[in-house]
Amino acid sequence: MGELKYKRVLLKISGEGLCLKGDKGIDGEALRQIAGEIKQVANLGVQLCLVVGGGNIVRGAELARKSHIVEATGHYMGMLGTVINALAIQDTLEGMGVDTRVQSAVAVDRVCEKFIRRRAIRHLEKGRVVIFGGGTGNPFVTTDTCAALRATEVGAEVVLKATKVDGVYESDPLTDPSARRFAHLTFNEVIDRRLKVMDVSAIDMCQQNHIPLIVFDLNVPGNMRRVVEGEPVGTRIDAGDG
Ligand code: UDP
Repeated sequence: MGELKYKRVLLKISGEGLCLKGDKGIDGEALRQIAGEIKQVANLGVQLCLVVGGGNIVRGAELARKSHIVEATGHYMGMLGTVINALAIQDTLEGMGVDTRVQSAVAVDRVCEKFIRRRAIRHLEKGRVVIFGGGTGNPFVTTDTCAALRATEVGAEVVLKATKVDGVYESDPLTDPSARRFAHLTFNEVIDRRLKVMDVSAIDMCQQNHIPLIVFDLNVPGNMRRVVEGEPVGTRIDAGDG
């Protein structure tokens, strides 16, 4: 077993990671696969927190475009969707014997804790996987921004962005098979080249707070473990100063 490169890590999972390709909702097998990878890393002694997206349930802006729902309401619905996903991941992990807590930025008192920074850190110190639902609690932003924010708040050393491809490509590898993958990028390169990695606000927050970002494929078994052990998996984004 390798040395740990990172001891406190924030993993960002998109809602679409929880369902089948092109589908909506929650798929039990996709959940089990993700939870298995998380368990492996938690068992290494890594303090692990997750920010869960909600794109498999509701994306506020998209819903508002297609309905008479006011956009702000759509975003509130999106945030509640992330709480649903957080609960799904919680039960799957607990079923595998992993101790967890869900904290939400939107109060849902009967089902999970509120987000309280100091309490979240305490859970991490006790070896619990902390699942952040409810996004930032504010409409008109995404869970990518939430991931950068929570990573900063809890002092995570790195943000791991789970995707369905093995890193950041110069163009979409699903439509352009000749697209090349970057092993390393700086924050400025991501912004200047307008690479679709995370929102600009999320990139900016990681840059301001000196938190590197690693984009990797969570569907490859053992990949997250390799990342926390320092293997060059996916694309690493940092300030480029070593
Ligand atoms: N959302 C929000 N504020 C937040 C986080 C999320 O309003 O702080 C809403 C927003 O409508 C977003 C939806 O929740 O589209 C689902 O989150 P996101 O799109 O980030 O999910 P992902 O693409 O990661 O599955």
